[in-house]
Amino acid sequence: MPPSSTPIGGQDELVFLDEPPPQPAAARRAAWRVMIVDDDEDVHSTTTFALGNLDMQGRPLEFVHAYSAAQARELLAHEQDIAVVLLDVVMEQDDAGLHLVRHIRETLKLADVRIILRTGQPGYAPEIDAIRDFDINDYKTKSELTRIKLYTTVTAAIRSYEQIRRIDDSRRGLNRIVEAGTALMALHGVRDFAGGALLQAAALLGQPASGMLCARGDGAAAHVVAACGAWRAIEGGQLGTDTEPALPPLLARALAERRNVHANDAVALYLAGKTGRSFAALLDLVRPATELEERLLEVFAANVAVGLDNVELLSHLHEAAFYDTLSKLPNRTRLIEILDATLAGPARDEATLCLVDLDHFAETNDALGHAFGDQLLAAVAVRLQNCLARQLTVARIGGDIFCVLGDSSQVHPAGILPLFQEPFVIEGQTVQVSATLGLVRLAEHDGSGTDALKDADIALKRAKSQQRAGHFYFTRNMGVEIRERVRMMHALRSAFGSHELFLAYQPQMDLATRRPVGAEALLRWRTADGKFVPPDRFIPIAEYSGLIVDIGEWVLRTACAELVRLRAAGHHDFTMSINVSQVQFRHPQFLQVLRRALADTGAPPRYVELEITESMAMEEPETFIAMLAQVKETGVHIAIDDFGTGFSSLSHLQRLRLDRLKIDRAFVTEITGSSRGSSIAEMVIQLGRNLGLSVVAEGVEDEMQARVLHNLGCPLAQGYLFARPMGAGELSDWLSGQARLRA
Ligand code: C2E
Ligand code: CA
Ligand code: CA
Repeated sequence: MPPSSTPIGGQDELVFLDEPPPQPAAARRAAWRVMIVDDDEDVHSTTTFALGNLDMQGRPLEFVHAYSAAQARELLAHEQDIAVVLLDVVMEQDDAGLHLVRHIRETLKLADVRIILRTGQPGYAPEIDAIRDFDINDYKTKSELTRIKLYTTVTAAIRSYEQIRRIDDSRRGLNRIVEAGTALMALHGVRDFAGGALLQAAALLGQPASGMLCARGDGAAAHVVAACGAWRAIEGGQLGTDTEPALPPLLARALAERRNVHANDAVALYLAGKTGRSFAALLDLVRPATELEERLLEVFAANVAVGLDNVELLSHLHEAAFYDTLSKLPNRTRLIEILDATLAGPARDEATLCLVDLDHFAETNDALGHAFGDQLLAAVAVRLQNCLARQLTVARIGGDIFCVLGDSSQVHPAGILPLFQEPFVIEGQTVQVSATLGLVRLAEHDGSGTDALKDADIALKRAKSQQRAGHFYFTRNMGVEIRERVRMMHALRSAFGSHELFLAYQPQMDLATRRPVGAEALLRWRTADGKFVPPDRFIPIAEYSGLIVDIGEWVLRTACAELVRLRAAGHHDFTMSINVSQVQFRHPQFLQVLRRALADTGAPPRYVELEITESMAMEEPETFIAMLAQVKETGVHIAIDDFGTGFSSLSHLQRLRLDRLKIDRAFVTEITGSSRGSSIAEMVIQLGRNLGLSVVAEGVEDEMQARVLHNLGCPLAQGYLFARPMGAGELSDWLSGQARLRA
């Protein structure tokens, strides 16, 4: 007999069909399916008659008929959702039914289906073990199964089946939620996560995805974070304001009542948010959710709410890490990422990076207040963004420093500076702002994004030092120069620490007697590999970096100590000249450092001479004069180095309590045999005489220069003619040699 189905409660008990008519899933689930397996046709009809109008929890029964164990096997292979099998033990064989049971449980692995064994003869009862092992619900002889008995047995079996299925469904549902959670974790950004949550919720219900997920803060309007299916078009929009579409009532209820709200055609999930905003999701339903599904949705909603909170937090962190809160522009960190990407990409050769620094912003800020300053910065950000081409990157990388990155045809001074011609209007006040630009063509740059930014900054500094409201392009040479300076600064610091610095001493002579009267201490740097770095190169770096303060103190102490040693060796009328740079001299601790050096070494101050430059005396002359007076109180002498190269006025010079002038080497070199001498050297010597100052000429290289200087009345001289700078030990020997010579 072919497989057949009996329509529910039909008058015709046996309607034979080749195949069960295709039924919608929802309808099929609506009936409890009972399979009758018996080779006795009467049993089929009596059973359907007995149970035909049974109705459990609003669901009727539907029968599937098999007339042999073999046919039952065949049917079970594709039938689904069979709740109960009413099975005859004895069919083709005496134990055909028991074999079928084994087949159902072990081969088909149908664990849910409830099995009720029926037999005509009590002797064919299965073993107790089989009842347990094969999960047989009931065993009854056919005579036992009165209509009522059959009814209660099947009812109990269906109830048991339903419970098993429910547990199973909820386990599967929870699994899905766990899986959904894992899948959602991989999504970044609130939008992606929300979209994923909608799809997962629909999948959990086995329904097509159509719905939306909204966020609502304290305000009335809700923002549609993600939407799918019928709602797709409103993603990113607002709901519930005057102009926008209204918030669907179900969603509004979920948000108001802070709970999930179910309807026949939709469900609204409430997703509690921690960050002051709440989320709610609306899902369209093609059939109402079952009780189990509703409970699963509770768990799902709780999970998604936590997940949403986390992604929101993450995206806030991301915002905070990569965007400037004031201007909403990318910040320095983000700009460097973009720069790195540009440098690695094909746009590199055409791209220019431009720093835009607002002139005098600090003053504006101080004068008009920080709130005003903030508004001004925001206004500049808006103008840069609105007026420049959209494909350019505009960032804010520091207080008043903005940055524009993009194609060189658009990023250039003529494209950016005019944006500052129009004044800004803040709180009804017009403010005129100008800007200075530092630019780097990325093609001319070979480093990381951070380096490119440094280069732009170097160009900016150059632009500012040269002319306000201008611009400057970075060149490779500038970079090399500056990097070399930085390298040298580090090298010098460690050189000082590891005693690579030492002093050389160059004797100063009395031109009349040709006797040494003193020496100038000159700093030397011999690197670990024996190379000398000229002081003209490293001293400016020591000054620029402030290292000169410590180095200068060391020079002072070392030279004083050497003076004391020379005196002990018998050179009593001997002066030690020590160079002091501007940074050192103007340092607040200088006076103390000097006093300590004198006291600690025991050097007699009147044999110590400090060489300072002319230009030092010219800057802030009043503080300089006051400072000089204090220095002189220690008893040391003061010489003006490189005299004649600066522009000191005579009246000025008279106010300084000086002891000596040093004629710069350049004016000594000018002295040639042809004329009587250099007019400048002559002038300095004259000046010294008039002011009652001693004069020393430096850089004397030949006898002729020495004679001319002597004839002009210059008392002292220093230069290669007499001696080159030499180490402390050599100087002692040299001085002894000189003394022997005259003895
Ligand atoms: P300066 O104070 O004008 O020193 C004189 C420079 O002329 C020295 O160069 C010296 O070696 C050089 N010189 C001496 N005689 C002759 C000569 O006959 N012909 C020529 N061509 N050169 C001669 P140096 O030692 O290279 O020092 C250069 C500059 O470095 C010094 O110029 C001084 O400004 C600075 N300096 C040296 N030592 C110190 C120091 O301890 N402290 C500070 N602050 N500056 C120093
Ligand atoms: Ca000097
Ligand atoms: Ca000099």
